[in-house]
Amino acid sequence: MKIDNLFTTNPFKEIKSKLNILEVAEYYKIKITNKGKAICPFHDDHHPSLCFKNNRFKCFACGVGGSVIDLVMNIFYISAFDATKKLNEDFNLGVLKPLNKYEIQKLAKRKENEEEINNIIKSFETWKKDSEQWFLKLFKLFRNIQKSLAPKNFQQPSEIWFLASNYIEHIEPILELFASNDREQILDGYSNIKNYKFKLIELMEEL
Ligand SMILES: [Zn+2]
Repeated sequence: MKIDNLFTTNPFKEIKSKLNILEVAEYYKIKITNKGKAICPFHDDHHPSLCFKNNRFKCFACGVGGSVIDLVMNIFYISAFDATKKLNEDFNLGVLKPLNKYEIQKLAKRKENEEEINNIIKSFETWKKDSEQWFLKLFKLFRNIQKSLAPKNFQQPSEIWFLASNYIEHIEPILELFASNDREQILDGYSNIKNYKFKLIELMEEL
């Protein structure tokens, strides 16, 4: 689990949004000139090279720069997480509230559920693709039968022609439903489609 998953909010983001980099710099003894610059503490600086903009710092001589967290990391040679902890304590921000056991369990459960849902969707999509192709094949077959056995000159149509026409009528709305890609509607019709598929398979065996 990533570190920001163990806290009620993303501590890095929150710390950065709650602090003004100029105040932080001054708090850690970096003297800001009235032009908003400072002597860079990260190299042997004689003219103020450290600039501040958009709540970030940048030294145009040695290249060091970043957020308040980067600033504290560089001043004290500490990790991002330790810098965050230090800022949280020094400025009394009350940001790092670890999740309790119950909240961590809830988070893990949610991840599990997400995976489960993704698996269901995946198998649904596979089923949909296979079924759609299956019905389409059958549709073409019945269409061919219908065409080749089309009654001519007011003849009585054959029984197979009727059968094919009848099945085309049933398969067409199923194909339309699949083509709509409306997952909810398709799921609504899921058991009907499945039963119909079985019925057709039985019929094919009889033919
Ligand atoms: Zn510098």
